[in-house]
Amino acid sequence: MTLVDDAPTPAPARGDGPGLLAAIAAREPSIRILTDPGTREAHRRDETAWLATGLPLAVAEPATTAQVAALVSLCAEFGVPMVPRGAGTGLSGGSAGIEGALTISFMRMNRILEIDHDNLTVTTQPGIVNADLKAAVAAVGLFYAPDPASYETCTIGGNLGTNAGGLCCVKYGVTRDAVLGLEIVTAAGTVIRLGGKNVKDVAGYALMPLIVGSQGTLALVTEATLRLRAAPAPRTTLLAFFPTIDTAGDAVAAMTKGGLVPVTLELMDRFTVCAVDDVHHLGLDREAAAMLLVESDLPGDAGIAEIEQAEAACQTAGASMVLRAADAVEADWLRAGRRLAFRALEQLGVARMEDIGVPRSRIPDMLRAIAVVAAEHDVTIGTFGHAGDGNLHPTFVLDRDKPDEALERIAAAKAALYEATLELGGTVTGEHGIGASRQAWLLRQRGEDAVAMMRSIKRALDPADLLNPGRVLG
Ligand SMILES: Cc1cc2nc3c(=O)[nH]c(=O)nc-3n(C[C@H](O)[C@H](O)[C@H](O)COP(=O)(O)OP(=O)(O)OC[C@H]3O[C@@H](n4cnc5c(N)ncnc54)[C@H](O)[C@@H]3O)c2cc1C
Repeated sequence: MTLVDDAPTPAPARGDGPGLLAAIAAREPSIRILTDPGTREAHRRDETAWLATGLPLAVAEPATTAQVAALVSLCAEFGVPMVPRGAGTGLSGGSAGIEGALTISFMRMNRILEIDHDNLTVTTQPGIVNADLKAAVAAVGLFYAPDPASYETCTIGGNLGTNAGGLCCVKYGVTRDAVLGLEIVTAAGTVIRLGGKNVKDVAGYALMPLIVGSQGTLALVTEATLRLRAAPAPRTTLLAFFPTIDTAGDAVAAMTKGGLVPVTLELMDRFTVCAVDDVHHLGLDREAAAMLLVESDLPGDAGIAEIEQAEAACQTAGASMVLRAADAVEADWLRAGRRLAFRALEQLGVARMEDIGVPRSRIPDMLRAIAVVAAEHDVTIGTFGHAGDGNLHPTFVLDRDKPDEALERIAAAKAALYEATLELGGTVTGEHGIGASRQAWLLRQRGEDAVAMMRSIKRALDPADLLNPGRVLG
């Protein structure tokens, strides 16, 4: 089956854009609105440069929840769609521009409102950058776990929009697992609070988990109360190199089966290892077919014991070399190298990252399937990802001088990749979201009845289809 997975041609502008801008200027003059061509153009895309997008009517930069609510009410009055946006690092076109829509940037709403040590929570506005939030809570001995590889640039609002994962989900879960409360603005411009600081709360339907990961299609998030933990111990870090991709996959499957829960269990294949080493000169084994980065944040002997177990699993699976980071600085470099894998691949050509997930025992099968797809379709794929979660990022790398040459082969390879993923019981997106791409595959993966249920939720919460229309459900 061949399915189109890239965004369709952008829809024409909807609503009365000039009327909206005039009304904002007249009725809400304190809201910052940017209409210059440079700013609008800069908000046309997120990190998915290959997707078709539209040019926003304008970019609004609200500073308060009240301003967000006012903007939403005015957009509803004038029938103009809205695109909520954080830092624009998304990899599914979720915050890319829609022709004639108002992009609502949350970057100015970046204040931490409260760190509650007694309840281990932080309450924050959505525009704060993930790393800044982490640093602020670390300064008082606390830890916010979710850490997408893009954590130095992406925002908490974007993380909530995509239900972002990252490098320590294997132990601490994804963004949704860290959310206790949300303040949202509905499509009608009403401000609603969901959840709060209660660790257990089953009053009514679970709306909060529905909003998290909905990519701005059901409500706009204006505040979040997030779960914190006591700062964990310094990490013990292990690197393992493997002669074949299969043996690396076997080591991951063995660790999962053995009940090991390291804080990090990341994989890079040879192509990616070499790309990272070219840029960062980490002295990685460029001959190995794959590398695993395994870390424990258990204190003292427990951390050493956990890493010894991981080491044993790697040796049994056939690792060619296993070594520990000499110190925290070396461990930081190795982790940073993994975080920058996509950027390193971008040095080699036009890089298009995929985001498949499979049950963890099927990681070896998935790695084999990726190799088959690359060979059969004559495409270059660098694979890395959160192996401990079963979440891999096979990344197509196209010749920068003639990227169009490979497009047909890439489309066929992508379809084959997704088919293989679904055959293994997997998902076409583990953490980046359906966004403006992969929509045909949403139907293929979830089935008509489930997608119909999603559509009825969308209709109930956003009857005029103004919140990020065309995203997720198409
Ligand atoms: C190099 C690189 C590495 C990455 N690594 C990871 C990774 O390890 N794990 C991972 O999960 N992702 C990763 N990503 C993808 C991306 O960083 C995440 O999806 C991140 O959550 C996006 O945050 P953002 O602030 O850039 O949001 P944006 O891209 O601006 O928006 C993302 C989505 O959230 C919605 N949104 C934004 N703010 C709000 C709000 N206030 N209310 C409602 N909806 C909102 C948008 O409409 C959009 O649909 C990576 C990206 C890059 C470029």
